[in-house]
Amino acid sequence: MDGTPLCDECIADRLDLSSIAQASVVTSSASGTGGFERLRGPCGLCGEPGPVIRYNG
Ligand SMILES: [Zn+2]
Repeated sequence: MDGTPLCDECIADRLDLSSIAQASVVTSSASGTGGFERLRGPCGLCGEPGPVIRYNG
């Protein structure tokens, strides 16, 4: 996730999580901490607009 904003679905796909719900837990706990930033915009992978997570680390 090096600077590319990703939606929950793509994060779940990248992390190979079994459900989007788990990804939401990961992303919500990650947002605001550890260089993760939650913002609105198109996903860098699927292009879907919406809340995405970007890693600034
Ligand atoms: Zn996506």
